[in-house]
Amino acid sequence: MTDIIWLGFVGSLLAGLVTGVGALGVFFIRRLSEPLEDAMLSVAAGIMLAATFFSLLLPAVQHGEAQFHSRVVAVTVVIVGLLLGGVALFLLHRYAPHEHCISGREGPDSATLKRIWLFVIAITIHNFPEGMAVGVGFAGGDVGNGTTLATGIGIQNAPEGLAVAVSLLSANYTRWQAFLAAFVTGLVEPVGGLFGSAMVWLAAPLMPMTLGFAAGAMLFIISDEIIPETHRKGFASLATFSLLGGFALMMFLDATLG
Ligand SMILES: [Zn+2]
Repeated sequence: MTDIIWLGFVGSLLAGLVTGVGALGVFFIRRLSEPLEDAMLSVAAGIMLAATFFSLLLPAVQHGEAQFHSRVVAVTVVIVGLLLGGVALFLLHRYAPHEHCISGREGPDSATLKRIWLFVIAITIHNFPEGMAVGVGFAGGDVGNGTTLATGIGIQNAPEGLAVAVSLLSANYTRWQAFLAAFVTGLVEPVGGLFGSAMVWLAAPLMPMTLGFAAGAMLFIISDEIIPETHRKGFASLATFSLLGGFALMMFLDATLG
């Protein structure tokens, strides 16, 4: 049984490390154009969105049905988890420390700097449910589903890592500082992975709710952070179609790998 925790941890660690791989790009480029950045982050959001449905919610309902022998009970339990996940992220988001990270720096005006750090913090926070999703995916005993989740989440971490690193570079941090900060945001993922697989291991009957919780947390971040951020600068259609592209990619991975 502890194998499962181990797998969830390693899977989410590998997915998280891809953030650092993406962030390596900061040694080669100085900045991303706004449309490119919006497109990349939207692809990431589309992958997350599809992972939420195909790799979290559908398996959650299936697990619940096997467990409760009732589709209505199963889906209700998953919905409760989903809502709890959204509320948890809302609270985390509201009370997470924001401003004090930025005081006393020079360079871009403090409003821009604040926006950049909020973005970095948003990426960091959302890596927790992503890692948790991977951990829970493996811990459900379905290695195929875990692998699909780790692959999809890993893919969408690369543009996120690059976007974080490049925005820090634009705020006058050095390339190494920008790279390391982005790398560290990815390390939140194995923490979430360990938490997710341990939750399932300790409380297997909570599995449908835990999967639902991870899904709700992901949906919160997509709706509250990534979509508004990628639609802010006037490239909304590009962002929408990039999101659809990411969604299609994850849907394909789920159907073929899982
Ligand atoms: Zn993400």
